[in-house]
Amino acid sequence: MENSCDVLITNASAIIPGRGIIECNIAIEDGKIKTLKPSENSSTSKRINAGGKYVLPGAIDPHVHYGVYSPIDEAALTESRSAAIGGVTTMMRMLRLYDDNYRAIEKQLRASKGTHYIDYAIHASILKSEQVHAISYLRNKGVNSLKIYMNLGADLNHIYMDLEPGEHIIKDREVNIDDLLLSSIIEQGAKEHSTILLHAENPIMCSEHIHQGKEKGMTGLKAWSDCRPAQSEAESIAKASNLGRKFGANLYFVHIGSNAALDAILAERQKGNANYYIETCPQYLTHTYDFDNITGKVVPPIRSKSDTQSIWSALRNGIIDTVGTDHVANRLDLKIGKGDIWTALAGFPGIATMLPVLIDQGVNGGRITLERLAEVTSYNTARIFGMYPRKGTIQQGSDADLVVIDVDLEKRVTPELLQSYSDYTIYDAWKLRGWPVLTLVRGKIVMEDGHVAEDALGHGEFVQRHS
Ligand SMILES: [Zn+2]
Repeated sequence: MENSCDVLITNASAIIPGRGIIECNIAIEDGKIKTLKPSENSSTSKRINAGGKYVLPGAIDPHVHYGVYSPIDEAALTESRSAAIGGVTTMMRMLRLYDDNYRAIEKQLRASKGTHYIDYAIHASILKSEQVHAISYLRNKGVNSLKIYMNLGADLNHIYMDLEPGEHIIKDREVNIDDLLLSSIIEQGAKEHSTILLHAENPIMCSEHIHQGKEKGMTGLKAWSDCRPAQSEAESIAKASNLGRKFGANLYFVHIGSNAALDAILAERQKGNANYYIETCPQYLTHTYDFDNITGKVVPPIRSKSDTQSIWSALRNGIIDTVGTDHVANRLDLKIGKGDIWTALAGFPGIATMLPVLIDQGVNGGRITLERLAEVTSYNTARIFGMYPRKGTIQQGSDADLVVIDVDLEKRVTPELLQSYSDYTIYDAWKLRGWPVLTLVRGKIVMEDGHVAEDALGHGEFVQRHS
């Protein structure tokens, strides 16, 4: 029927990238947006009054690690639940598998089905030369983006793999991304039109500094930052960009949080012949190495006050394309290691706090507009990773992935509030003003007022991306 729909959201102030803030009613049918102008007397089985609140296109987190400290059949449940709390409707998993042909992804896909509250997509890490030939296989699976860990080499060459479904013992493997392997992945990735995600750091430089730092007895997050210098990021950015230009690749630099890294990418962008995208993470906007807590250990490290200011300005003026979280679903007992900066694990959770932090510090802090928020958390991400216009906007025919936010709602952050597998957060006890109050994934309510709908477990679907 013309005048009917499954869900009708009334009194919405929709934030639509490119169009601004539009007062509308949103009619949803079969999980998709049917129209933004339904007639007043539309019949519907469910009516939601947004009460004039802002409605964002559902956030897409392009950078999520889950399935490493608990297997995906368990991690999907806890981390997609946490995502729903934070208004994230699609999570992009950084998958690390070690088999030569990447066929082990099949098991991961099977275990992902029925275990997610929200939609999910996958980036595949290419960790050794045997896996380069799997890139076209991955593309056929709808995995159209690759991750390269340039930071792995020298004596910094150990990294945890994703667990097999049901497996519980953490799996450490050796990875060495040498220049030859780097070049062959970028060449093959460009040929297959995959987006290439780069963790740009130079392990040889970092390793030397870390040895010296340990000898000198350096401690704390400032030491961590000094021993993984931003110059090492800049150098790796230049190296990858040279190859990117040679092969005409789509390069996406993950977790950029320093002035030097930002400047290096801007210099490369001028030279053309490749696409250069920049992602930052909330922690590079909110934390400096003066944060006196080992839970803030991450790679690349959180930096100085001047770095955070540059990152805010780049986020505001369009230089930075996306915000991802680099969410790592680990727990405090493992995280802190022996209690010192050298043995602590890198990475921490963040998927549930991305939007609240950006609303509180960014929008309410007068640093970015709501429209810019929608661009960096959804629209740009969907476009870069081949999901637009199915996702990333609010328009007729798009998936009804929507987040109603209350920009005045204040909550004090606790790990319990965030409902992740992780039992800590770097925002513990922060009072954040501006929270999602309703999360819909393809028209289904997944979270309402901080409560995740149990009947939405398994609603999340794998988003295949082809280009
Ligand atoms: Zn990461």
